[in-house]
Amino acid sequence: MNLKAILDVASSDHSHLCPRQILGARIGLKGLALCGLEASPKSKRLLVIAETDGCFVDGISAATRCTVGHRTLRIEDYGKVAATFINVETGQAMRIAPTLDVREKAQRYAPEEKRHYFAQLQAYQTMPDEELMTVQEVELNFNLQALISRSGVRVHCETCGEEIINEREKVIEGKKYCLACAGDGYYALKP
Ligand SMILES: [Zn+2]
Ligand SMILES: [Zn+2]
Repeated sequence: MNLKAILDVASSDHSHLCPRQILGARIGLKGLALCGLEASPKSKRLLVIAETDGCFVDGISAATRCTVGHRTLRIEDYGKVAATFINVETGQAMRIAPTLDVREKAQRYAPEEKRHYFAQLQAYQTMPDEELMTVQEVELNFNLQALISRSGVRVHCETCGEEIINEREKVIEGKKYCLACAGDGYYALKP
């Protein structure tokens, strides 16, 4: 798919087209190319880790067809417009972020547009990759195979009894607990 078609998909999912979606689409296309992969809703060869949620991710999803539902997209919320593209078969991981001065550059690529937002909207679609983004090869600080896990594995939490899939349990003294019961939960039950 070309950028225009991708942006049509992204903006209809999203009810508007905005600069961050375009950055997501451009960065998604670059990530695919660097991994030597094609956008595919079926393949699990590409794993994307986005460093924020929101508009940027909709652009990435439209370009790569990676989704949370398909387990090919994860959010590590650093509040940053950046994402890492991992070729699951080779383990190669490329982190892509907009160049630090991308907003100022946008003005140069749309000199007749005085409104910053609309300048970005135009420029982000046409700026060359090397002006728009930086690429770094990175090493992952986690076990990729453990993150992906295997389908069909499930255990029950010793405390709450709820089912845990994808090997997300914590083993304490030989017993298996969900993260919430193990004390690492994002919530606590109200007394
Ligand atoms: Zn938006
Ligand atoms: Zn539990």
